[in-house]
Amino acid sequence: MMQLFMPLNFLGFVYREIRGALANIERMFSLLDKTPLVKDSPTAKAVSLTEGRVSFDSVGFGYGEREILKGVSFEIEPGQKVAVVGESGAGKSTLVRLLFRFYDVSQGAIRVDGIDIRDMTQDALRRAIAIVPQDTVLFNDTLFENIRYGRPDASDAEIWQAIELAHLKQFVEALPQQAQTKVGERGMKLSGGEKQRVAIARAILKRSPILVFDEATSSLDSRSERAILKALDEVAKGHTSLVIAHRLSTVVDADKILVLHQGQLVESGSHDSLLAADGYYARLWRIQHTKQTDESVQVQH
Ligand code: ADP
Ligand code: MG
Repeated sequence: MMQLFMPLNFLGFVYREIRGALANIERMFSLLDKTPLVKDSPTAKAVSLTEGRVSFDSVGFGYGEREILKGVSFEIEPGQKVAVVGESGAGKSTLVRLLFRFYDVSQGAIRVDGIDIRDMTQDALRRAIAIVPQDTVLFNDTLFENIRYGRPDASDAEIWQAIELAHLKQFVEALPQQAQTKVGERGMKLSGGEKQRVAIARAILKRSPILVFDEATSSLDSRSERAILKALDEVAKGHTSLVIAHRLSTVVDADKILVLHQGQLVESGSHDSLLAADGYYARLWRIQHTKQTDESVQVQH
């Protein structure tokens, strides 16, 4: 009896956490991943972050003994679009996890609007950042309610506006019960691109000053990818955005590109300046270019 009770009780806890006042999608990842939760310090302030200024100051970090990030420093000005590129395993997702404070840095500091993120409540920090993850989780609920998770107190009109901005309207209208269609494990299954647009709609609703986007992989065809990137560009207007890029061609327009190699920031600058420098980025660019199919070459500029 006890054995049965415990997991059910735990599931109930997870469910309440999800449906709870925070309704914080990103928080759920930390629960399900069993990430050790960092604690708010007793003096943590519930600050209101509105600017969207991000700074990494000599950040070092390792999940265990092995150092994953070493001396990473960069600044993102409010409203800038900054991309992070680098090979698989370079530490790109780790940067995002640290910014969201799933883990604390072991060296240096991360600041948002000039404040060390360890000096603010996690709630304050996570309110300021919307993440569009690579793999979006849908709840067994209607599509409409799934989008509402972005901000539980949003009005229906605001949700419809988000659906439009995320380029989901046509898709929703073609569903058997439109926005009231059940999705998720026990409902309609959405494709990777559709799920990502749901995540973008959530991010639009959240209206946070910082938007983080873990970009689509090659599993998306180039047409869906273009639609998603277009939706994202609209969301990002007036916000700070941090884009993890797998395909370099999708971030040539970024204000700044950060190039990570084995946990270190080896280069940064605009696409043109990085090509002119003819270093590691230029080499990655050439490798991806020679691998391009004819179709994706056409979408390049
Ligand atoms: P990227 O996103 O650039 O592909 P990650 O930031 O995910 O790279 O990973 C960087 C390194 O950290 C990799 O070597 C990876 O194996 C390791 N790593 C990632 N997550 C964990 C974890 N939860 N525990 C231990 N090592 C991890
Ligand atoms: Mg990654």
